[in-house]
Amino acid sequence: MASPSPLPKTFDPSSFEERQSRRWEEAGSFLPGGRPGDPKFSVVIAPPNVTGKIHIGHALENSLVDAMVRWKRMQGFRTVWVPGTDHAGIATQMVVERALAREGVDRKAIGRDAFVEKVWAWKRESKDSIRHQLERLGCSLDWSRERFTLDEGLSRAVRKVFVDLHRDGLVYRGRYVVNWCPRCGTAVSDLEVNHVETPGKLYFIKYDVEGDDVGAIVATTRPETLLGDTALAIAPNDPRTRRLVGKTATLPILGRRLPVVEDDFVDREFGSGIVKVTPAHDPNDFAAANRHGLPAVVVIGPDGRMTAEAGPFAGLDRFEARARVLERLWSEQRIVDAQEHVHAVGHCQRCDTVIEPYLSSQWFVRVAPLAGPAVAAVEKGEIRFVPEHWTKTYFEWMRNIHDWCVSRQLWWGHRIPAYYCARDHVTVAEEPPAACGTCGLPDLVQDPDVLDTWFSSQLWPFSVFGWPEATDDLREFYPTDVLVSGFDILFFWDARMIMAGLRLTGAPPFSILHLHGLVRDEKGEKMSKTRGNVIDPLDVIAEFGADAVRFTLLSLASPGRDLPLARSRMAGSRAFMTKVWNATRFVLAQTEATPAPGRGDPAEPLSLLDRAILSRLHETIEAVDRQLGEFRFDLAAASIYEFVWRDFCDRHLEMVKPVLSGKTGSDADRRSIRRVLLACLRDVLALLHPFAPFVTEEIWEAIGGAGMLATARFPKVDAAIFDPESVGAVRALAEILTRVRNFRSERGAPPTEPAELRIAPDAPHAAALRELGPILAALGRLSSLAFESPAADDLRDVVEGVSLGIRFAGREAATDRAGIDRELDKLDDEIRVLAARLRNPDYLEKAPEPVVQKSRQRLFEMEKRRAALAGTPH
Ligand SMILES: [Zn+2]
Ligand SMILES: [Zn+2]
Repeated sequence: MASPSPLPKTFDPSSFEERQSRRWEEAGSFLPGGRPGDPKFSVVIAPPNVTGKIHIGHALENSLVDAMVRWKRMQGFRTVWVPGTDHAGIATQMVVERALAREGVDRKAIGRDAFVEKVWAWKRESKDSIRHQLERLGCSLDWSRERFTLDEGLSRAVRKVFVDLHRDGLVYRGRYVVNWCPRCGTAVSDLEVNHVETPGKLYFIKYDVEGDDVGAIVATTRPETLLGDTALAIAPNDPRTRRLVGKTATLPILGRRLPVVEDDFVDREFGSGIVKVTPAHDPNDFAAANRHGLPAVVVIGPDGRMTAEAGPFAGLDRFEARARVLERLWSEQRIVDAQEHVHAVGHCQRCDTVIEPYLSSQWFVRVAPLAGPAVAAVEKGEIRFVPEHWTKTYFEWMRNIHDWCVSRQLWWGHRIPAYYCARDHVTVAEEPPAACGTCGLPDLVQDPDVLDTWFSSQLWPFSVFGWPEATDDLREFYPTDVLVSGFDILFFWDARMIMAGLRLTGAPPFSILHLHGLVRDEKGEKMSKTRGNVIDPLDVIAEFGADAVRFTLLSLASPGRDLPLARSRMAGSRAFMTKVWNATRFVLAQTEATPAPGRGDPAEPLSLLDRAILSRLHETIEAVDRQLGEFRFDLAAASIYEFVWRDFCDRHLEMVKPVLSGKTGSDADRRSIRRVLLACLRDVLALLHPFAPFVTEEIWEAIGGAGMLATARFPKVDAAIFDPESVGAVRALAEILTRVRNFRSERGAPPTEPAELRIAPDAPHAAALRELGPILAALGRLSSLAFESPAADDLRDVVEGVSLGIRFAGREAATDRAGIDRELDKLDDEIRVLAARLRNPDYLEKAPEPVVQKSRQRLFEMEKRRAALAGTPH
């Protein structure tokens, strides 16, 4: 064993965190380990945007995954966590576009190839920064397997999927009304549109109808679109409007002749029961137009300006055109009413521009045939959601799913592998074809559009392992075990991975989908730049240390809840790390010459204190294992915290002091205590490692632990070590000590004032307390300790069921009477409140049974204590 290097006096995470990162890297600690065929645990990172910066949500997500991955690795699983980044099409293109604009460079001026080259240069610079940030957080990613959604292999996978799905009729090209962002100049999917309730006006506009004196009143919130009307529609058999069927209306301003058609899609309740049909600018109208063979007239162009079809309004911005159209309609007295009206207006998720429904040729994925198996896999339990309630949201969305528009009018991304000949035939192929698949003409032109960035992300859990090649990694690590993501990308990403994984690999891409909450500020407010409450993970890592940040996030991660992140919590976690550090220094000082415990050590009998702390340790191991298995990172963190802070540091380390200093106990006791201290310290480090990898690895190195802690074994629970009697005795001892100290301080006596203590001989744990007597006497500064019934004039109390009598040397009991009376008054109040509550039938009916039980128990304890204090027999 290497000689332990001394631990510096002050806990300073900045002095060792980056060094430990390098040691992990050099030791290859995050490679899978073990041998192929061993039980494995594999996870893929939710790839951050390649140009991005890690935000606090990433810090949470990756702390959760890392805790899980480190735990599994230490349990001996062949573990791999695959890192990588996403090219994030539209987001990245916008970032680079803006940066270039600041340098006075216009994307369109430099052209597609030069622009894409600029983005690659940008990506090369940013990539290492993402890695650095994840390393600072302590993420145990296998960087030898790093992937990028636009790298060679993943791009090949994307092309193959597009071609295969096209061949199977699941990818098609068509002219439809899509969500169009005039600022970004591209189509976006339904999910990329934020709907904002916006106050506006509902205008009732009169259209003349041939041979009908009344005419048709049509309601609309977007009067500029009437320039694109090609019909009016009414509900079938509506007595109010039946007279108009087959007649022809005239479009105001432009004078276009509009047939009046009957169709089920008309909502009788809306307006007058007559609607305008504007096929090029409304998806429902477009569908109706197809049913009736009506033409579509595009009046708003891709740049948000009116087209030549808009007549006198051509060239105007769409909102300007709205105002002008209204002016004309007012002046021609076509507007019969205008009502206040609130309606949902779609905004581009990227740039907040109002989305325009726009008719254009796009590529789509037919989703319904993919959604069926994805629903079934969750129904059958092949994929489990944590927390479970997300299942319902998932089913609702999947059962009402629309086709997915996957083409984007961008330059950064996977270019669509579709090629057109001069006759506009389309050939879809993985590699550029020499000739048209239909007519054989050469010189094909590739589709200029790229795929939605989620098209490649949906392949991530298998493409990172080399799919479609049958690689060893794919065989061994796919399907993955868990996917951790924010609930905000459940439909963007998680659901699509499930659909793609089932379709393309025949297997669900992961068996657990863990959806975490949102990190908010300490008041529960959403973090945002405008509020100025954003916490940058790198800043708080610099301030509190990465372990403290991780421990805080994990402690707050209750399933299904958002996390209120307060700086005071991080300071508290840092204090916890300091506690571990200082405890180690104490243990090292006490055990310098003690050989490390080995599994095969000749077993000297353990002292009672040792049996108790080992029992608590194994209870904690059992709890942490179970809680991590149930994704209760919050509870697992609390279990470790409680064990380390209370059981190990506050109780055990205090209680062993009189023995180690030679005041009491035998040499055998001292040997036992030292051995167990070291054993506990090692297990504490291992237990805590998944939560706080840096400080535990640093201490592990300092105490000469074998190899790296990151790849050491996680403690295994040994039920034979459970010893509830010793644990109970130590707890009673700790509580008795607290009581003795409180008696002193309540009476203003100095902490050194000697006391006489009597413990009822029939008290619970009496035998064990007798054994611990010298420790109790030393720590409680007792002048005498007797196991006999408390005397009538003793100060009396009951602690953990143990009846005590205490008396301070040289003081009359009567002088302590005032303190006792105050205590009694307090108890009386509490008893009154609690008793009243327990008599309240309403409370008894509504409160959960365990809570009622606990209250009854508490009342019983308080009454017993009151009796003891009052000196009355009980
Ligand atoms: Zn936009
Ligand atoms: Zn052709």
